[in-house]
Amino acid sequence: MRCPYCGHLEDRVVDSRETQDGQATRRRRACLSCERRFTTYERIEDVLPQVVKKDGRREAFDRAKIVEGVATACQKRPVSAEQVEALVSAVERQVQELGEREIRTTVIGEAVMQRLRTLDEVAYVRFASVYRAFRDVGEFMTELAGLARKDGGEER
Ligand SMILES: [Zn+2]
Repeated sequence: MRCPYCGHLEDRVVDSRETQDGQATRRRRACLSCERRFTTYERIEDVLPQVVKKDGRREAFDRAKIVEGVATACQKRPVSAEQVEALVSAVERQVQELGEREIRTTVIGEAVMQRLRTLDEVAYVRFASVYRAFRDVGEFMTELAGLARKDGGEER
């Protein structure tokens, strides 16, 4: 780190501690040339990518919004709040591991659907209808038909 006083490039860390919120590490440094002290903050780079919406606008990855969407799909289904949280955490990890700076909303939608399908098929179809409605209605009908065959109208 270049010394702000004399421009020297070497220093030693004299103190290092977490900030109160745990979001950064504050280091007191002493310049090896002029001995004056300065402070640096080290923090984790944003790990979640920006989400690109269908209309091209970008927004931050919003975990709460996804939890809400999944929870809505799971209403009156035998799925606990913990299961919803765990599902969204898994999606969040998956998205982080892509290591992309930007991802499309559909990538998140597909990731959620993939997991929801093994958790609860009715919730899966509800969720899928939201994500796929404007893209491929036929696909949604196929999903519905497949379900009706499978559980014989369990939700009467
Ligand atoms: Zn210096």
